[in-house]
Amino acid sequence: MLEIKNLKKYFGGVKAVDNCSFEVKPKTITALIGPNGAGKSTVFNLVSGILKADSGKIIFSGADITKAKPEKISNLGISRLFQQTKLFNNLTVKENLLLALDNEDTKFWKNLFSLNKLSKEKETKIKEMLNLIGMEKFESTLTRDLSYGQKRLIELLRTILNPHKFLMVDEPVAGVNPKLREVIAKILEKLKNQGETILLIEHDMNFTLNVADWVIVMEKGKVIAQGKPEEIRNNPRVLEAYLGE
Ligand code: ADP
Ligand code: MG
Repeated sequence: MLEIKNLKKYFGGVKAVDNCSFEVKPKTITALIGPNGAGKSTVFNLVSGILKADSGKIIFSGADITKAKPEKISNLGISRLFQQTKLFNNLTVKENLLLALDNEDTKFWKNLFSLNKLSKEKETKIKEMLNLIGMEKFESTLTRDLSYGQKRLIELLRTILNPHKFLMVDEPVAGVNPKLREVIAKILEKLKNQGETILLIEHDMNFTLNVADWVIVMEKGKVIAQGKPEEIRNNPRVLEAYLGE
């Protein structure tokens, strides 16, 4: 589904992504892990077109998207959860989710100003999603009044509601309490069972090794190991990279 070939991105002297190659197979959860500064988020920024690669290739569903603009990449079906929060704090949970149902700018504004004329179909979809995470009571709550973990959950829902073929989630459980972590793990598993393809960035090794089918480990811009979770768990090279932090 996604193929990264010899990807490079330097920031001055910092080799953020350095000759990185890997593949994401359809209908799997593939995790990209590694110590802070390994280059994981930069890979996401390159795939989603926010940054341009110095060299290398990014192929999505057979199409070369290395030089494509973010809107084009989003329209091809890549939806992502950012490491930093991007919710509209002064809108309600429901309004934030509604905006995600359409990812084109013009429709965005149309949706924003016709919130009262919400279609039954969208309304049902939003209720269903909130039920999934046990947050149905928060529909009319302003996003700014949510806890950090609740915000991350709503953002994750936004990423999922955004029409897509491929999901990229950057550190969904960082700073989130154990109970909500479990909710997020369940959502990811449910999505996979529904046939979704997910690329997950996560710093927390335990969380990752429990949900991922395949794990790619980055350090200093390079892939230093990949394999099944049980192979990664005991890989001395990986433990060393984490201990070196
Ligand atoms: P990770 O997500 O694995 O923690 P990042 O991809 O965010 O790592 O960062 C990789 C390296 O690139 C780090 O050394 C970081 O400081 C640097 N970096 C990331 N983005 C930028 C940027 N926009 N400008 C300069 N340096 C950056
Ligand atoms: Mg990061």
